[in-house]
Amino acid sequence: MQLYFPDTPDLPLPDGHMFPATKYRLLRERLLAEGTASASDLTPSPLATDGELAAAHCPAYIHAATTGTLSREAQRGIGLPWSETLIARARGTIGGALAASRCALTAGVAGQLAGGTHHAHRDFGSGFCVFNDCAVVALTLLAEREVSRVAVLDLDVHQGDGNAAILGPDPRVFVASVHGANNFPFVKPPSDLDIGLPDGTHDETYLAAAETALDAVLAFRPDLVLYIAGVDPLAEDRLGKLAVTMSGLEERDRRVLSRLQRAGVPVSIAIGGGYAEQIALTVAAYANTFRVARDVFEG
Ligand SMILES: [Zn+2]
Repeated sequence: MQLYFPDTPDLPLPDGHMFPATKYRLLRERLLAEGTASASDLTPSPLATDGELAAAHCPAYIHAATTGTLSREAQRGIGLPWSETLIARARGTIGGALAASRCALTAGVAGQLAGGTHHAHRDFGSGFCVFNDCAVVALTLLAEREVSRVAVLDLDVHQGDGNAAILGPDPRVFVASVHGANNFPFVKPPSDLDIGLPDGTHDETYLAAAETALDAVLAFRPDLVLYIAGVDPLAEDRLGKLAVTMSGLEERDRRVLSRLQRAGVPVSIAIGGGYAEQIALTVAAYANTFRVARDVFEG
């Protein structure tokens, strides 16, 4: 299974910042250490060009975001301070998503150890997201006629408002989101399917909602699924508000990936959010997703 990873330094953040900048590197180290991935499975994510970003973003925003000339308010909306590294990583997230998705179309499955930047809109960033990977991938592959129908299965605990705004109205793309109803973003533009869950939702209800979203995704008969396997529904997550267990998340991934594999639908995996107090829990949950993917597709 080919996996792309951000080959850029950890994001420089002020002390006490909420964002777990080291999780990407820790995930790669863990996948190698536990044998889920070998060195030959891992490829550095290419950095997306301005032209590639323009598939889903307006040129004025791309220019301001990449040159550090966004307004202070717009940069605050992203929630991460501007730096060259931030932009290199943001470009890598898009480049990695494009590369992984192209790979998935031939291999059946691929992924990147980043991505799921579903809060980024066409002309502004939000919620730790600068550019929108699913939007760029879907619109690029549709324009190239590599695919004619794409589905986004977004199981991050936060609703994908950027995906909904950019891709929701497009009849060639089906966006399904399962998320906390009372969580960020507080304005939720409609996806094709939104399932909002109450605070404290446990495994059984969560898994049923994920299956409902998956049913809808499969009914759309997509040529490619972009799976945002966020691990922030975990009970221990500081930004999640749900009460899903580690084994519940693993069961979610097993059901999703098994059914896609059986249906013969290619899937490209992005890790989505994860903000547990103990970063090792977040990283372990991400690693489970890729171990399950390997078991399902290569077992
Ligand atoms: Zn999230």
